[in-house]
Amino acid sequence: MQNKPYLKAFPDANGYFGKFGGAFLPPQLIEQFQSIEQAYLTIGNSHDFISELRSIRKHYQGRPTPVYYAKNLTEKIGGARIYLKREDLNHTGAHKLNHCMGEALLAKYLGKKKLIAETGAGQHGVALATAAAYFGLECEIHMGEVDIAKEHPNVTRMRVLGAKVVPVSFGARTLKEAVDSAFEAYLKDPINSIYAIGSVVGPHPFPKMVRDFQSVVGFEAREQFLEMTGNLPDNLVACVGGGSNAMGLFSAFIEDSCEMYGVEPAGTGTKLGEHAASLTYGSEGVLHGFNSIMLQNADGSPAAVHSIASGLDYPSVGPEHAYLSSIQRTKIATANDAETINAFYTLSRLEGIIPALESAHAIAFAMKLASEKKYESILVNLSGRGDKDIDFVVENFPPEKY
Ligand SMILES: *Cc1c(COP(=O)(O)O)cnc(C)c1O
Repeated sequence: MQNKPYLKAFPDANGYFGKFGGAFLPPQLIEQFQSIEQAYLTIGNSHDFISELRSIRKHYQGRPTPVYYAKNLTEKIGGARIYLKREDLNHTGAHKLNHCMGEALLAKYLGKKKLIAETGAGQHGVALATAAAYFGLECEIHMGEVDIAKEHPNVTRMRVLGAKVVPVSFGARTLKEAVDSAFEAYLKDPINSIYAIGSVVGPHPFPKMVRDFQSVVGFEAREQFLEMTGNLPDNLVACVGGGSNAMGLFSAFIEDSCEMYGVEPAGTGTKLGEHAASLTYGSEGVLHGFNSIMLQNADGSPAAVHSIASGLDYPSVGPEHAYLSSIQRTKIATANDAETINAFYTLSRLEGIIPALESAHAIAFAMKLASEKKYESILVNLSGRGDKDIDFVVENFPPEKY
């Protein structure tokens, strides 16, 4: 990976970043995950795979996405210069397609016929359905009934793209149950299908694979920023749900001296159930096949979470984030729901860019940081566009009041 010793050394051969990560799997899946890892290490490093993925990024996704100097926002705050990496301009409107195209390309090389995944707000489902259409693969997306009712436009998009949406009707009928349901479906036919995980989470090798596919964001941004300014950014800021857009940006800068801030959703309060800030308030535990820092109840079960951005609504976090923050290479920050809505309107009105509510968390924190670090620069990963959120925002936080 472009002479980056850290990316080669982490995770180790067993999928660990320090004590975080690993692969906690039911016995019948151990062999499948080992063969995915082998395929990733061999096929994923082959000339044909790399050049096909590069061509897809350029001609289909529209990469590289620009780095943009947000002059109006910068002047309004009067502090550090704020730059945006425009993943909202990536095809489908967010960064998730970066890893979905990689996972689907690997599936094609492995001769798989079907992509299976869960989705919460529907963003990962839409990106994966897009990749499945491109490669001519079947696609099955598991989604809780509560989310299906809430996220109607994304459900429609998946259906238009040819995916099968499987409603999940047990438990709380949201993301965690959708993961359980997708895993069960995958267990029934692991030979012909592949479980395409939606972030830098899950059992090894997914946290590594998804990070590597997303690292295109950071490598592009590093070069673009150097070309624009002659320097590297002093600060990097990205929101953290599972952590894929943040790792995508951070991975190209780990050996540099920039400060890196992962922004977690502080929701409406500090009690369990009022936020989804896993690294801020959580403790060590295993969920969905990997060891990390998670929000848990007294009995060790995953806690209820809340965020205004459904893409950040996850009670754990990618193991690499747990590791990097434990060695203090990254800093953990937060933005709450109110600050996020304020940032959503501020960026829309000052720059003509409507951010996804997830990305608005990063903008909200960058605005605070900018006023503290007057003579520095801040590069924010604008992970997605906010078209999916406008109805919700206008209904609950009307423009007249902001
Ligand atoms: C899903 C999503 C996120 C959160 O996922 P990460 O894996 O933490 O990046 C952030 N932004 C957008 C726009 C998303 O769709």
